[in-house]
Amino acid sequence: MLLIKNGRVLDPATKTDATLDVLLDGDRISKIGANLSRNGAETFDASGLIVAPGFLDLHCHLREPGQELSETIETGTRAAARGGFTAVCCMPNTQPVNDNASVTSRIVDRAARSSPVRVWPIGAASMGSQGQALAEISAMKAAGIIAVSDDGKPIATARLMRQVMEYCDSLGLPVIDHCEDPSLFAGGVMREGPQSLRLGLKGIPAQSESICVGRDVDVALLTGARLHIAHLSTRRSLDYVRWAKERGLRVTCEVTPHHFTLTDEDVRYDTRYKMNPPLASRADRDALIAGLADGSIDAIATDHAPHHAASKDVEFDRAPFGITGFETALALGLAELVHPGKVSLMRLVELFTCGPARVLGIQRTIAVGEIADLTLFSTTHEWTFRAADSASKSRNTPFDGRSFRGGPMATVVGGRIVSRRP
Ligand SMILES: [Zn+2]
Ligand SMILES: [Zn+2]
Repeated sequence: MLLIKNGRVLDPATKTDATLDVLLDGDRISKIGANLSRNGAETFDASGLIVAPGFLDLHCHLREPGQELSETIETGTRAAARGGFTAVCCMPNTQPVNDNASVTSRIVDRAARSSPVRVWPIGAASMGSQGQALAEISAMKAAGIIAVSDDGKPIATARLMRQVMEYCDSLGLPVIDHCEDPSLFAGGVMREGPQSLRLGLKGIPAQSESICVGRDVDVALLTGARLHIAHLSTRRSLDYVRWAKERGLRVTCEVTPHHFTLTDEDVRYDTRYKMNPPLASRADRDALIAGLADGSIDAIATDHAPHHAASKDVEFDRAPFGITGFETALALGLAELVHPGKVSLMRLVELFTCGPARVLGIQRTIAVGEIADLTLFSTTHEWTFRAADSASKSRNTPFDGRSFRGGPMATVVGGRIVSRRP
């Protein structure tokens, strides 16, 4: 038993904001109230800390199987636990691609043995994510996938998207799309604009993303199925999502911490600023912050994308896209959204908990009988993020050396503390 004393319980699902004790018995929450005591229970003093439902990351890359030099399920999930995440959804672009039940089972088994947090695999939509034949979605669902996506690339055609949506709808799975139009993307490495001209780097127009979001929203209109837009980064894309929500379509979206923190003006000849979608214009970034505040955006997702140093230590044009993200996500949310007064603390917690849970059709709340997954964090603790000390195998982050006020302090999964800031 674990008794968490004197924390400020913030639960967006029930709009709770009060100083309460929470008693965990086994893997469930057994009691919530003031001045709880229990003989024999381990006590955690959460005075001055926020006690939130367990954070859930809808989008990460754990690189196993196949790219264990960059990350393993064990190292990636240790970084996730440090970042306050109690559950993570891993994208299928491993080697081999997670497009069949045997790869799904391998990930689930490996996570059961080596991960401190829950790992929920996302299956590929098409075989090899090649955009041709449907992957073995039903068998993967039986093996444990919670959504499908061809992340790394978009679902290739509107026709395939229709098939995937109709099939997934019958299985109760959301379809997650990485939106880009390959003909506009065309070998670009950063957002097209004044900064790409200045740096002489090939630009990707914002419309590469929004054209694909528009297509997907139209296919959702055709099918009525669930659609989730991954790492949405432009105002125009958000317009499409708002349009869909206003019409009652089951369309949701996520935004990454780097897209609400940085803009294309921050890009320099440093591959830690190369990600896909690329960092957007200031106007787009500001539109994302407005969407995070007003509820148009459902979740913050890290798109944690570890790359081994050797692969990133090349010319900007040749480097792979992506940055690590677990350990800085919450701190960036506090620094960029909450401390400046743009997003309330309750809303930030929602974006990490019941927001992403709703995308998957599940609950995240602190209530008696619920699973004992909790994220404890501070809004005042001062610390500096050092990539060299990261639990991840990779160091590709533009936030190395950044100082923060507030961040994760303890992560509780199934009633056990799996990570704790010393
Ligand atoms: Zn992607
Ligand atoms: Zn991704």
